Amino acid sequence: MSDSALAVPSAFRCSVCDGTEVARATERGDGARVLFCAGCGMGVVEHRPATTAQFYTDDYYHRAEDSAHGYDDYEFTAEHGLLWTKLLIEALAPAGGAVLDIGCATGFLLRRLEGGWRRCGIEANPTAAAIAAASGVEIIGADLLVPGFATAHEAAFDIVTSIATFEHVLDIKEAVAASLSVLAAAGVLILEVPLISETRDNSNWYNGSYEHIFYPTVRGMQSLFAGFPDLNFQGFETAIAGFSSTYIGVATRDPARFAVVQRLLAAMTADEPEALSDQEVRLNLAYTVVHEFRPTPARVLRLPLLLERYFTPNLGKRLTQLWHEDAVRASAADWNAGQARHWRGAYEALQADPLTLPARAVRRLRRAFVKAGQ
Ligand SMILES: [Zn+2]
Repeated sequence: MSDSALAVPSAFRCSVCDGTEVARATERGDGARVLFCAGCGMGVVEHRPATTAQFYTDDYYHRAEDSAHGYDDYEFTAEHGLLWTKLLIEALAPAGGAVLDIGCATGFLLRRLEGGWRRCGIEANPTAAAIAAASGVEIIGADLLVPGFATAHEAAFDIVTSIATFEHVLDIKEAVAASLSVLAAAGVLILEVPLISETRDNSNWYNGSYEHIFYPTVRGMQSLFAGFPDLNFQGFETAIAGFSSTYIGVATRDPARFAVVQRLLAAMTADEPEALSDQEVRLNLAYTVVHEFRPTPARVLRLPLLLERYFTPNLGKRLTQLWHEDAVRASAADWNAGQARHWRGAYEALQADPLTLPARAVRRLRRAFVKAGQ
C-alpha cells in the first residue's frame, strides 16, 4: 500500500461530515483506494459498490483458502472476539432485557448471553440467519438500512451491539443513526470497528477484508458520534498484539447509564486486575488477554477465574496461541529460562490434547499458570 497523489474525483462527499476535500488516499492490496476526509478524518473506499449482499455468501463464514473476504473460521474468531462483549452486556444488564445484534451471523453472541433476553438479530446471509433462528434468535431483518426498519423497531432495545459491522455498510452515519433510534431511552450501543491507527501497523485492514467500505480513524469515529446531539460516547483504540487495531465505542443518551458504562470500561481496560471484583476481573481478562492478547503476570494468575466459567476448546486454542507467542518472546530473553520452559511445556501439552475434556484442560491450564507466575 502507499499514499498516492491526490487525483481525487470531484464527486467526493463524506458520509460523516459532508466534507468534499480529501486529505490523503491509501491504496489497498487489491488496488482500490481508500480516501480520508480532510474535514473529519473518516476513511472510505473510493468506489462504493451499489449493494453489499454479494459479499456475504456462505463462503464468508468459512472461506476458501484463496478468498480475500471474510473469516478463516467464524466460530473461532467469534469466540475470542466476543467474550468481552458478552461479559460487558451481562454487567450492564444482569437481569437481561431486549438485545439486538447487528450482523449476528449464526447468533453466536446472542446464544451465549446469560439471563432473560429477547434475542434479536440482523443478518445478511440467509444460511447464517437460519442457523441463528433455529437456535432461538429472532431474526428481524437482513439490513439495518432498509427503509422503515428503524421506525418499526423504535426504542425497542436495551442493548444494541454492532461488532465488526459498521465498516461494511454503505453509509456509516445512517447505520449509527438507525442503531441509536432502536435504542430505548436508557439503552446502550456497543460497537467495534477496524481502526486505521495513527501509531500502529494497519496492514491487516489494507491487505484483506476487501468487502470493507469504511476505514475508521479515531478522529473519524469521534466526529461521527459528536454529530448526534445529547449522546454520551466513549471510544478507544484496542491495540491487538500481533494484529492491526480495532476501535471500541459505547454510546447512550442516559447520563446515569453512561456513568455505569464508564466505570465498567475503566475496569475492562485497567492495567492490573488487583482492585477489581471477580466479575470485573473476568471482563478485564476477556478484553485484555483473550481479545487484545496482552497478558501480564498478574492477569495470567487470575485467568482460572475466567476459565472456570467460560472455558471452551476454542478459547483453549486461543490461549495456546498466546502461550506460543510468550514462549517465543521468552526465548528472546524477556523472561527467565525457567518461565520460558513452563510456557513452552504448557503450549506443547495443549497442542497434543484435543481439549475434549474441559475440566481436565482447566486443571492443566491452572497448573501451567501457577508455575509460570512463580
Ligand atoms: Zn468527513
